[in-house]
Amino acid sequence: MTNNAYDSLVKEFMAKIIARNPGEEEFHQAVEEVVTTIIPFVEENPKYKAAKILERIAEPERVILFRIPWKDDKGEIQINKGYRIEMNSAIGPYKGGLRFHPTVNLGVLKFLAYEQVFKNSLTTLPMGGGKGGSDFDPKGKSDNEVMAFCQSFMTELSRHIGPDTDIPAGDIGVGGREIGFLFGQYKRIRNEFTGVLTGKGREWGGSLIRPQATGYGQVYFAQEMLKTRGDNMKGKICTVSGSGNVAQYATEKATELGGKVVTLSDSAGFIYDPNGIDVEKLAFVMDLKNVKRGRIKEYADKYGCEYYEGKRPWGIKCDVALPSATQNEVDEEDAKTLIANGCLLVSEGANMPSSPAAIEVYQNARIMYGPGKAANAGGVAVSGLEMSQNSLRFSWTREEVDAKLQQIMKDIHATCLKYGPKEGDYIDYVTGANIGGFVKVADAMMAQGYV
Ligand code: GLU
Repeated sequence: MTNNAYDSLVKEFMAKIIARNPGEEEFHQAVEEVVTTIIPFVEENPKYKAAKILERIAEPERVILFRIPWKDDKGEIQINKGYRIEMNSAIGPYKGGLRFHPTVNLGVLKFLAYEQVFKNSLTTLPMGGGKGGSDFDPKGKSDNEVMAFCQSFMTELSRHIGPDTDIPAGDIGVGGREIGFLFGQYKRIRNEFTGVLTGKGREWGGSLIRPQATGYGQVYFAQEMLKTRGDNMKGKICTVSGSGNVAQYATEKATELGGKVVTLSDSAGFIYDPNGIDVEKLAFVMDLKNVKRGRIKEYADKYGCEYYEGKRPWGIKCDVALPSATQNEVDEEDAKTLIANGCLLVSEGANMPSSPAAIEVYQNARIMYGPGKAANAGGVAVSGLEMSQNSLRFSWTREEVDAKLQQIMKDIHATCLKYGPKEGDYIDYVTGANIGGFVKVADAMMAQGYV
């Protein structure tokens, strides 16, 4: 089949997806990226085509929508929307984070749940895909308000989830504090101390290295990519976006491996520290963001470096870019700037941070590009390890979990290599990750029947 014939199959497929899921742009974007790379594979393997696996994988098994009423500190009643998308359970119970952010809507969560299916499959662990959250904005809320909201959220969600059914975790706006409140409410309602959530505190069933896992894994994946070109992280100038959990630990690991991280950002702007964000400065960021819940601008005030209001860090010259904030944070122009400045590698800690046009720019420039569903899978992988430890009622040491995480990132890289087209020293990780994630889920769906 010619490229044109594949293009028209993709167009036909996407027209149906758009008609069935109107207005859900991020979901369309995530599906199109996967379908574009998988249609040729499905055409070569007609059993998947006959069983309509691509069509079925794009339809959630179940979508739960609910009302979250709660009372703020002034005694006023607030109402938010709650969601849980149970996307695919072919290879294990639904697994994926909860996002609390004002931009959350059905389309955003469906894109995240869809990505999660492929990502979780790539981890080699038995986890299906799901995602959930709310349009609740934790910014500026007191601990008491966050707790009231989390309790109301879990009061409804608790009837739909369970350690063998659906295991939520964190995502943007949901960290250790929120998981604690959610877990407490689940336990109160169900009278069960079980591994129903991951990302728990280490004293009450959490795994060591889970907070670090996404950022560490993102840098381990970058390291694997560099290795294919006989290179490593030493001396690499890195730009990181975001300043939350993923960005913090990407910064820590990149620095530990000899790189120099020069930027961090939040929704208001980015800081540029040409001297590098060392261990001491990173400790300041962690306290600022995780405890004081302040703005990244305060870093510039404290260390006397540049702060660029309302801007993203992609204009800063770097060797390695580590987008770790949110979806579509790197557009075509940003990608062109990165390439013009000599960037040789992009490893994604966020989910779908690069727009389709940006990805095309990386691919045309033949730089190393690790898409989120492969590069950021370390987070959910250690969630899978947390589930295993909860089932065993046991906990592994820091070294044991880190060694397993490193091995999983190597295995994901190897899977991308197995399925990704190669051209000289260039590897198409997008196709590799999509097909690698797809095959296991598709085979399980076929084995389990569908009528
Ligand atoms: N939200 C993270 C992700 O995008 C982690 C999910 C989890 O640990 O279940 O993969």
